Amino acid sequence: MEPPGADTVVVRYGDMSTKSSRVRRGMEKRLVENIEALLEDRGVGGDVERRPTRPLVWTDEPTAAAEVAADAFGVVSTSPARSLLAKPDPILDAMAETAEAHYDGGSFAVSARRAGDTFPMDSEDLGREGGQAIWDAVEGDFEPEVDLDDPDFTVNVEVREDAAFLYLDEMAGPGGLPLGSQRPVVALVSGGIDSPVAAYEMLRKGCPVVPVYVDLGEYGGQDHRARAVETVRTLGSYAPNFREPLRVVPGGETVELLAADLEQGRMLAFRRFCLAVAEEVALDAGAAGIVTGEAIGQKSSQTTQNLSVTDPLTDLPVFRPLLTMDKNSITERAREIGTFTDSTIPAGCNRFAPVQAETNARLDRLRELEPDDLRERARDAVADLELVECH
Ligand code: ATP
Ligand code: MG
Repeated sequence: MEPPGADTVVVRYGDMSTKSSRVRRGMEKRLVENIEALLEDRGVGGDVERRPTRPLVWTDEPTAAAEVAADAFGVVSTSPARSLLAKPDPILDAMAETAEAHYDGGSFAVSARRAGDTFPMDSEDLGREGGQAIWDAVEGDFEPEVDLDDPDFTVNVEVREDAAFLYLDEMAGPGGLPLGSQRPVVALVSGGIDSPVAAYEMLRKGCPVVPVYVDLGEYGGQDHRARAVETVRTLGSYAPNFREPLRVVPGGETVELLAADLEQGRMLAFRRFCLAVAEEVALDAGAAGIVTGEAIGQKSSQTTQNLSVTDPLTDLPVFRPLLTMDKNSITERAREIGTFTDSTIPAGCNRFAPVQAETNARLDRLRELEPDDLRERARDAVADLELVECH
């Protein structure tokens, strides 16, 4: 719901507010650019204004713009709002007008906040007088009742030094940090449910993502790859000004070799090959680390012991935002983000996994088993990668 006369969107951010003013200004600038890019990408009009602590979006479509801005990383919440002079009369009149338009009986409350001290009333007085103004406006048609604890209808007003903002609803944002405020990371995306959620979490914390899919050749297939492309497309919808093409790296030869030569350690050698590929791409892209969708114990290759033997392949940090999450929570996240349906396009795979899964591999033994030229293979495969635009 937006108040009558709504002309703007109030944008609230969280983690950034604790930074020094110089760092915060930089982040605010990024946030503004990112909201502008999202609005343009979604075809919603609006001018974003950078103001200390609360950016605004001036727009003819406040509800649509508030929904778009609530997808920007770093944003805690947004509200379609009506801007007002920071003076009592216009605020009280607007409260009455808003109640006339939207109040539908039941209990109500005014939630007033004030920043600075140029406004002649404190927030308590404003709440009380606002409540009276609403009461007077609606008592002819309803039997209103004030309930400050659990109201059916709330009129919110924020008074700042130079303007006031009246709104009814808050839309939740993703939190985190503005995209681009951290160094990029390479994301290993498999087209499964987990890896896009992991990549999203890094985006949420401000890291642009360079997505990499290792094509399994005969063991993968077109559908497998199509899932990866779709998930990257969905992720790109949250990051229109940081979209990176999917790097499809041909891994078929190596996968065939591993399938033919290795029973024990096959999946772990493949995991290490993926990390070698990601490292190679990261060096080229100036990325600060690698992100995977691994979670402890979700698969035999993801026991803590097995993670400890795949990790040493690379000196780069391997970020695993899902490490301690359970599958049902990850699936729920995937649904919220919108990558779940992408990941469920049917794909014939899994044949690569050996019959007997290993849960307790040892690094020295794995090094003996795996091909000596794993890194060279990764380098060669990356030299042959295909860039797939996912728009
Ligand atoms: P996902 O749902 O992300 O596929 P998973 O539970 O199926 O995860 P695995 O198949 O064991 O787990 O893969 C673990 C992680 O390794 C994935 O989350 C992903 O980051 C990476 N990975 C696996 N296969 C590939 C691939 N073909 N290309 C790129 N990365 C991959
Ligand atoms: Mg998978």
